[in-house]
Amino acid sequence: MTRRLDGATVVGRPVRVGLDVGGTKTEALALDAAGRVVARHRCVTVPGPSGVVDTVGRAVAALCGPSGEVSAESVGVGIPGQIEVPSGRVRHAVNLGLRDLDLARILERELGVPVRVENDVKAAAIGACRIRGRERESLVYLNLGTGVAAGVVVDGVLQRGVGGVAGEIGHISVDPRGETCPCGQRGCLETVAGGGAVARRWGGGDLPVLEMFDAADRGEGRAMRLRREFAAGVAAAVRLIVLTLDVPTVLLGGGLVHLGDRLRDVVVDELRRAGEASDFLHSLRIDERLEMLPPSSGAPAVGAAHLGVGMRRADVG
Ligand SMILES: [Zn+2]
Repeated sequence: MTRRLDGATVVGRPVRVGLDVGGTKTEALALDAAGRVVARHRCVTVPGPSGVVDTVGRAVAALCGPSGEVSAESVGVGIPGQIEVPSGRVRHAVNLGLRDLDLARILERELGVPVRVENDVKAAAIGACRIRGRERESLVYLNLGTGVAAGVVVDGVLQRGVGGVAGEIGHISVDPRGETCPCGQRGCLETVAGGGAVARRWGGGDLPVLEMFDAADRGEGRAMRLRREFAAGVAAAVRLIVLTLDVPTVLLGGGLVHLGDRLRDVVVDELRRAGEASDFLHSLRIDERLEMLPPSSGAPAVGAAHLGVGMRRADVG
């Protein structure tokens, strides 16, 4: 499905395309020279190396029109997994069936435009700064989805570390006697604050985290215990971020922000409770630094589109 928001004004002018390639669906959008979203497209992600390449190719073609009325100047791809930068090689994107794929090079050959590839949470952190219109700000984007991960931006610059691991806080162990994590450690933040872990523990239907919140609101003991543990896990992640980086803003994003204020409220309660017990934590006003990105903000795709800024067709080769 493609929605052209302002098609007439972009015909004949190059756009920057950004894609958020998820485990089940791909969100793509085109930005004009001023950074405005001028077209959106959503499609099912086909997993596997050729499936992912085809998915991106089809989405770019859909955005650019059946006869290429609009031309893409650059393409940015946000994708889960470990990404080698600047080569754009994707490693260990398990949900997409990718072990090691030279994605940027393959797409550049297919599309004939410069392509940048970045981890989806890191792309979302860049996108969040752009959407907020504060390109030089410092923030941490905390993605609460199936897993838990953060994207760190300091003075407008994405922090990757030497191997791109900066921000992978979901695998910080907070309970040495806790549940075993797929990474091999015990009690990782992801095992208490990840939507996947909550779903495993709660059981239930299609929307287990929502169901657990509803049951907790009805006063069901097991749900209230699980929600409290979940909120404590998210609060621990937020504290960790503030105590490590002292950023003014921790922005919650990802699939679980569909819970809206219900999510924010339980996390703020946990942060305040910890603040009551510690004058030090209280003085940091951590709860006041917490903000939520609206659901469906498109931050990963917006960030991905900005990855290509400064790249030119002549760079392909
Ligand atoms: Zn882990």
